[in-house]
Amino acid sequence: ASRAGYVGRYAPSPSGPLHAGSLAAALASYLDARAHGGRWLLRIEDIDTPRSVAGADRVIMQQLQALGMHWDGPVVRQSQRHALYQHAYDRLAAQGLVYGCACTRREIEEAIRQARLAERQFPEQRLPEWRLPELQHAPARGQESADWPAQATEARKARLAQVSGRAHPGKARPGLAQSMPAAPEQSYSERPYPGTCRNGLPAGRTARAWRYRVPAGLERFDDRWLGPQCQDVRHEVGDFVLRRADGLWAYQLAVVVDDGEQQVSDIVRGADLLGSTARQRMLARSLGLSPPSVMHVPLVCDAQGRKLSKQNHAAALDCSRPLEMLEAAWRHLRFAPLAANGLDDFWQRAQTQWAARYGPH
Ligand code: GLU
Repeated sequence: ASRAGYVGRYAPSPSGPLHAGSLAAALASYLDARAHGGRWLLRIEDIDTPRSVAGADRVIMQQLQALGMHWDGPVVRQSQRHALYQHAYDRLAAQGLVYGCACTRREIEEAIRQARLAERQFPEQRLPEWRLPELQHAPARGQESADWPAQATEARKARLAQVSGRAHPGKARPGLAQSMPAAPEQSYSERPYPGTCRNGLPAGRTARAWRYRVPAGLERFDDRWLGPQCQDVRHEVGDFVLRRADGLWAYQLAVVVDDGEQQVSDIVRGADLLGSTARQRMLARSLGLSPPSVMHVPLVCDAQGRKLSKQNHAAALDCSRPLEMLEAAWRHLRFAPLAANGLDDFWQRAQTQWAARYGPH
């Protein structure tokens, strides 16, 4: 069986060699493409030049080949596609969907702090719904401290009870998706951008970065691994950056433009990118593209429970033992051991089993 028009891709950032975590994502994406009779593209995501490591792209390509994962067509490099990103950016700007932002990180953190203080001082004010999860951590009755008086707590709890059915459908209503954490690049604040520059730059300031004006509303999608998902991007992430203060294109823009231009139909990647999906779907639609289907596979964690990553100095794959590496990644994807007799046997049987579970039926 096959599915016409299936195009998958693997899109590593060349910040170091592949490790056990990146192999699990690559394996899932490769098997899914093959199981659907589709194409599997390799895209080197070297847009974030300060984080790219010279030669890492070559190493990654050698590792994939040693493991028996062969990509279709020429390798695409983000560093050579500025004209495409500029064109997409201009299209967004022409629709009024981009604005300049003068805020430094410190200013954003300060604005968030001020907003939270104001909220504590005037609890009777209508609370933005996106702040509600915080209310669940309100101190219990009798435990209130000076900065969180008893009436405030009561008022907040009442408000929470009133609106909780609507605010976070994932948490309040069974059967709907959980709300998702913000992506790692947001972690300096772990709070949405408060929209300081949304209606114009403060007097005397100039734009540093350029942001996407996120439309209001919930973004829903089905993840082939995790099930139904939804995120209120405007409130949980805020207007996100398209062009960074250092002049580089943001990952979110580049990935959407590339997936569109390469006609990618199916994204299979690590669950660390789940929180970016809603943003990418919005951007895709603003660019007249239909968002690809997604599957986010479990991350491989180290003994301390942290995601394996190049930043954590995860060990590079030992490609002198390709079968062992593949078998480990395969088991991580929740399949029973294959105990394959060589690489060809591994690939043949893995593809058959993947197709039986996730393939076109
Ligand atoms: N380059 C990204 C990473 O290595 C993956 C992007 C994607 O799959 O969308 O984390």
